[in-house]
Amino acid sequence: MRDLVVLFIHFIATLARLLGPGGARSIVAESLLLKHQLLILNRSRRRSPKSFAKLKKHFSAHQKGILPLSMPTTRAKIWDMLRLLRHGGPALCNVAVTNSCNATCDFCNFANGKIPHKDLRWIDATRLDAALQILHGRGIRYVSFFGGEPLLHPYIAEIVALSIEKGMGTALITNGWLLPAKLDELVGSGLKTIYISIDAASIDAHEANRGLKRLGERIRAATARMPRLGITPIAQVTMSKLIKNYHLLAPFLRDLGFEAVAFSYPQRTRLGSSSLAWSDTSKLVDFTDRELIEAFEAVDELRTAFPVNNPHASIADMKRHLRGESEHFVCYGGYKSFYMDWNFDVWRCDAWRERMCSVWDFDKTPFVRDGCTACIADCYRDSSVMLHFAVSLGDTLDGICEGKLVATLKTIANTRNLESLSAVFENARVRSRLARTG
Ligand code: SF4
Ligand code: SF4
Repeated sequence: MRDLVVLFIHFIATLARLLGPGGARSIVAESLLLKHQLLILNRSRRRSPKSFAKLKKHFSAHQKGILPLSMPTTRAKIWDMLRLLRHGGPALCNVAVTNSCNATCDFCNFANGKIPHKDLRWIDATRLDAALQILHGRGIRYVSFFGGEPLLHPYIAEIVALSIEKGMGTALITNGWLLPAKLDELVGSGLKTIYISIDAASIDAHEANRGLKRLGERIRAATARMPRLGITPIAQVTMSKLIKNYHLLAPFLRDLGFEAVAFSYPQRTRLGSSSLAWSDTSKLVDFTDRELIEAFEAVDELRTAFPVNNPHASIADMKRHLRGESEHFVCYGGYKSFYMDWNFDVWRCDAWRERMCSVWDFDKTPFVRDGCTACIADCYRDSSVMLHFAVSLGDTLDGICEGKLVATLKTIANTRNLESLSAVFENARVRSRLARTG
């Protein structure tokens, strides 16, 4: 009887959506996505039923509080950090858990309908623990889960819990559509930082680009609960022509419940890796260099009205890049930041043409450190600015061990280190302000 009632409610809700604008398209798309997800899951379950059962059991024990998360102690974390500093500091990895997405953003090739259904993939959650162990062994202490849309992965909460259990700082980037439904599970997994994508300073423009009606209501419903749950809601805004006036973002984001913003720099050319977060046809990211420099200046001016996560020094470098001047900071993609996709392939960054290796060979694959400044990918350029001081420190210690004292003095006395340190403090100031308000 209960099932019949649920079925009837579901039927009425589907009928109501069907009668709404664009209803038929969104229902067909969602059904196909769901069907494909179930197919993949069933295949994976058939291949490794024990691993799936173990993963589920382990996670539900955490959620019920039977099994506390066996995270490293603060003391162990401090020792770990000191050990990593000797080698240039902790590294980070952006992990794309799926290439599927339910949104239709104009400036992104992950958009719903752009990838044939037969090519949609979800990372195998039963193998992720082993993959994270390998990443941890190579000094990776920060993991950011994204997609496509990561909340479409049926085991996303378990995936997050696995990385938190390893003591890795964990964040997730989502379009927010499924967030109200998944928030409790994510909190149960220990997640503290969620980035929600926002494209414009008005909800109509944002929803039109995303192709998701009433998305704003869902985002608001989630951000309203986040501070009580100890989660920091941060807006992830792609710099595009949908933003006509950056100053209008401050009241809009505040009203949506955000406490800070991180900007994604527009990807106007094809990325070389499996990532499809780019578009070479979208008019929304078709900037001249002059227009983009002005947009970066507007981002800097926004800091007085709203906390901006991107370091000032990194924005200054992106402007130098666009003006064809030499940049202050090289990128550590391949040395301190990496990208891993749904096939467990590891790349130095989203933009690079050749993959480094499969994660299963990552422990014996040499890092790449070639002083690259080829692109303006925020995930890698911003973090490189902040890591520059730690890398210099590691280089200095190496120099001392090898008896190269003059070169060592030059490395540590470089003014770039001060710039890098002030970027770290700037970020810490935003974070501590968030901790106070959050
Ligand atoms: S930007 Fe994000 S939400 Fe939009 S289509 Fe790409 S992956 Fe999906
Ligand atoms: S500058 Fe761009 S292409 Fe070069 S390593 Fe960094 S992210 Fe990759």
